[in-house]
Amino acid sequence: MKVNFLEFNSFRNLVDNRITPVDGINIIFGDNAQGKTNLLEGIWLFSGGHSFRGSKEQELTKIGEKKSSLTMGFNSQGRDQEAKITFFGNKKEVELNSVKKPSSAYLSERFCAVVFSPEHLSLVKGGPTLRRKFLDGAICQQDIKFAVLLSKYNRTVFQRNTLLKEINRHPELKETLCIWDDSLILLASQIIYRRLLYIKKLSDCAKMFHKGISKGNEELEIEYLSTAGITFEDDIPSITEKLQNAFEKSRRGDIFTGCTNVGPHRDDLEFYLNGMKAKNFGSQGQQRSIVLSLKLSEAQILKDFFEESPVVLLDDVLSEIDRGRQEYLLTNTEGCQTFITGCEAPVIKSGNTKIFTVEKGEIR
Ligand code: ATP
Ligand code: MG
Repeated sequence: MKVNFLEFNSFRNLVDNRITPVDGINIIFGDNAQGKTNLLEGIWLFSGGHSFRGSKEQELTKIGEKKSSLTMGFNSQGRDQEAKITFFGNKKEVELNSVKKPSSAYLSERFCAVVFSPEHLSLVKGGPTLRRKFLDGAICQQDIKFAVLLSKYNRTVFQRNTLLKEINRHPELKETLCIWDDSLILLASQIIYRRLLYIKKLSDCAKMFHKGISKGNEELEIEYLSTAGITFEDDIPSITEKLQNAFEKSRRGDIFTGCTNVGPHRDDLEFYLNGMKAKNFGSQGQQRSIVLSLKLSEAQILKDFFEESPVVLLDDVLSEIDRGRQEYLLTNTEGCQTFITGCEAPVIKSGNTKIFTVEKGEIR
């Protein structure tokens, strides 16, 4: 997977331009607040996901402009292709090889990337939302249906929560709760099943990378923390059964709190190093190594799936990790087209390198 060019018009603070990266390592450097992350975000948006900074769509268009666009030429599945995303306020239009697509999620079938930014460094220690986002985002890149499933599920949880709050005022509505529960459990069991399949792959891969980083000293284990007691041994029927029991048990509490307390939106991941919880016992360095292993695994799983290397976007992350880990990361992403941002140009040994400087949104 290779970006041949990226053209941007009225996107964020970037001065309208077209850049042509090299297949190897592209270094984007400049002072703070010049537009480095904006450029990576521009590439990332073609992988089908939302902004990795959690920005809203209307924030992507240059302040004062009504419309902005990104056009990317890329090579995937052995041929050159072109995609364009046009943003109008909070709406957007997506085209792939001059054919309109209903949403940018469809681009993920053709283009994939892995982004690694300093926010990911708190993946082990930070809140569960970050871990669920990592997991779900990674699955979405391989499977558009999963994104649809998730958004249906989240909508249903929202509707069920509204009903739970209503029940407090109108207890007779309690009868209708089971209708929501049935559809919620159906969606939840599919989500959890897909997550477990992904975690199995992630776990094997991350274990291997982590062994490499820790020079064979540390064994990484990943556990899925299910609010319904679901484990890797469960299949769809037993996942459904456990969810039914958990919903049943939680119903009184749900009505009392006015929210749905069990289900994949409350599940989490736990990381263990040599049998000890990394969140509580791991040093900062060990926690960072886990994140590095997870990100490298994400790239490896995409590579196996697409039979092509993903584009790797490293936003300001090299300055945050020590020399040993920097080398490990770059060695293990060799063969991937890579974009690295930072305030200083890193020393890269690889031959195929291009340097871009960013100043006040102008890229040279
Ligand atoms: P750092 O090194 O601090 O991470 P950066 O070079 O990555 O900096 P960016 O995050 O890319 O900086 O942001 C550059 C600038 O773009 C910021 O000053 C921000 O205010 C500005 N900016 C963001 N969105 C818009 C927009 N829609 N219109 C105009 N400017 C914007
Ligand atoms: Mg930045």
